Amino acid sequence: MTYPFEAPVSEALFARAQAVIPGGVNSPVRAFQAVGGTPRFMASGTGPYLTDADGREYVDLVCSWGPMILGHAHPAIVEALQTAATRGTSFGTPTVGEVELAELICERVGPAEQVRLVNSGTEATMSAIRLARGFTGRSKVVKFAGCYHGHVDALLASAGSGIVTLGLPDTPGVTGATTADTIVLPYNDLAAVQLAFEQRGDEIAVVITEAAAANMGVVAPLAGFNAGLKALCEQYGALLVLDEVMTGFRVSPAGWFGTEGVVPDLFTFGKVMGGGLPAAAFGGRADVMARLAPQGPVYQAGTLSGNPLAVAAGRATLEHCTPEVYAHVDATAEAVGRMASEALTSAGVPHRLSRAGSLFSVFFADHAVVDYATASQQNVLQYKAFFHEMLSRGVYLPPSAYESWFVSAAHDDRALERVAEALPHAARAAAAVHAPELIAPPTAADRA
Ligand SMILES: *Cc1c(COP(=O)(O)O)cnc(C)c1O
Repeated sequence: MTYPFEAPVSEALFARAQAVIPGGVNSPVRAFQAVGGTPRFMASGTGPYLTDADGREYVDLVCSWGPMILGHAHPAIVEALQTAATRGTSFGTPTVGEVELAELICERVGPAEQVRLVNSGTEATMSAIRLARGFTGRSKVVKFAGCYHGHVDALLASAGSGIVTLGLPDTPGVTGATTADTIVLPYNDLAAVQLAFEQRGDEIAVVITEAAAANMGVVAPLAGFNAGLKALCEQYGALLVLDEVMTGFRVSPAGWFGTEGVVPDLFTFGKVMGGGLPAAAFGGRADVMARLAPQGPVYQAGTLSGNPLAVAAGRATLEHCTPEVYAHVDATAEAVGRMASEALTSAGVPHRLSRAGSLFSVFFADHAVVDYATASQQNVLQYKAFFHEMLSRGVYLPPSAYESWFVSAAHDDRALERVAEALPHAARAAAAVHAPELIAPPTAADRA
């Protein structure tokens, strides 16, 4: 079974969208610029499958970039949402659902003594940075090249995700004054962090890092990296923020913290904890969280924060994330990664399978990947060919070589069979791309 390259309904919708939405999308990576072609407009999802506007069904290996850990339209989530909706969608007052979701988060992630709910991962990291600055009375933020923390101005310096994909080292609209307080260092390079602290230790408010980097492709922290950050922060009186927006409640019940045990001062959460609705959180040490308004002086707010529908979806999702769910997601991620790697090896395509718990991605490169410099040296043309062959065979991969692949508890044998059938064809399509000179960091001009 193969679908044609053309997708008439999606193409018509994309043209219509471009008239009223910049680039036709509400988040850049969705536009398919990195892989070419027309983005598929999805009409519905069920379990591990998405159905597009042309009526084609795909095994979904994006899972909404992480949140759909139980699969699409899980009956328990649908029911929780229906029940919540009939009670009213927003009150602008405290509700019991918010308390229950916060309790679930704090129970699972022990060092998160208190959390504040927000609407997106971006808000969570932005607020955590503000709080850390307010708490320490210092201004500088250390972040790592290739780590993405949402589109927070101060953190849009050498960010990953859409920024890596678009090859923008930075973005117009973020002023030099804003990023002047941001120190960007190579990921997994503890010596560089040590040096930064030696030079500006009394100015550094906070070090923020993805608990495991997964927005430049997946790049796990080297053994001792996160722990080393924690030790340096402690020594110099800075706070450590582990950004678990992607890893939280996905790689284990307690996220990356649950696998490694490094205790940050603050966490940020999102994606899975919203169950597919806009919900995120930041939290951690009670004495730090006590600095937040209304208890403390650091202002932070949100009209829709703790929204009843979002917290209902989040609660139902966390409650259904049982040990069996994590075991299944882990095994499925392992199987899909192994199958992809085997197919590429058989076709003679140099690549690296990179993993951090159940997050994984494939680098079309023949060298070890430990940071942004090594991650951004890959043959993106091979990924394009690979991506489109998978798409035509009913498998929806991330439309960029710089994103993690995701699976869910709903990915069953039938779904994996379709992936297994498609992979050898896609691997051969990648092998047919002979352009080693095109192994280079992506640039905006590449796909203008
Ligand atoms: C997705 C992501 C964010 C941003 O979350 P949004 O909800 O898209 O604003 C922040 N940090 C990490 C690690 C992420 O993966």
